[in-house]
Amino acid sequence: MRGKNNETPLSRRSVLGRAAVGAAASAAGMLGSNALAAPALGPSQAAPPTLTPEQVLSQLKQGNAAFLQGRPIAGDIRGRRRLEIARAQYPIAVLVSCSDSRVPPEVLFGKGLGELFIIRNAGNTIDTAAMGSLEYAVAELNVPLVVVMGHERCGAVAAAVAVVKKGATFPGSIGRMVEPIVPAVLDARRQGAGDLLDASVRNNVSRTVGRLRDFSEPMILERIRSGRLRVVGARYDLDDGRVDFFDEGPIRKRS
Ligand SMILES: [Zn+2]
Repeated sequence: MRGKNNETPLSRRSVLGRAAVGAAASAAGMLGSNALAAPALGPSQAAPPTLTPEQVLSQLKQGNAAFLQGRPIAGDIRGRRRLEIARAQYPIAVLVSCSDSRVPPEVLFGKGLGELFIIRNAGNTIDTAAMGSLEYAVAELNVPLVVVMGHERCGAVAAAVAVVKKGATFPGSIGRMVEPIVPAVLDARRQGAGDLLDASVRNNVSRTVGRLRDFSEPMILERIRSGRLRVVGARYDLDDGRVDFFDEGPIRKRS
């Protein structure tokens, strides 16, 4: 856990419960957990950030504004930074975004090593692996902001549109992969959207955001309710490079 590397296993259990600790420990092995890192932070190591969800959101907006202006990426990728975070990570945001090669989150937001915890798959959906990754980032790394980001002309959403409009089928696992997106397309069609694909992209994001805000595990919900975590939806425009945070949700007072 961030900044609590001397925390006892007992106190961890009191927060997360035995099962969750077991799961987190497994995830820790895969992800290089802080829980398994050295017991103390040296002076040269990165300090745990104490940013609010609103401050992180503001940083991402500023980063995207700089990207739009063609400014060099402000994020630190130098060797010194790599060494600072080699033993513990302190990402400031979780990105649930598409695997599309044109949508690299660090570049779009001007972020460097160790700043974004990124979950990517075609169509930016949340399956079990994605949800577990997200819960790990929030519960274990104390990340204060989750951004679910779709993008213009998403191929996975276009495939789901083809399923709805033409009964299209796809080989291998592609059909099953786009299944979770189909309800977003059906919603868009019911809404009479002029641009079915783009409305579906936004609906797909909003449905995931809504699910995270309303139906998540208590470890997520409690943080949202207390204002320590915010879940927002965004759409990246391939043509102009702008990230539109179209679903920011309510700002809750931190308690
Ligand atoms: Zn995509």
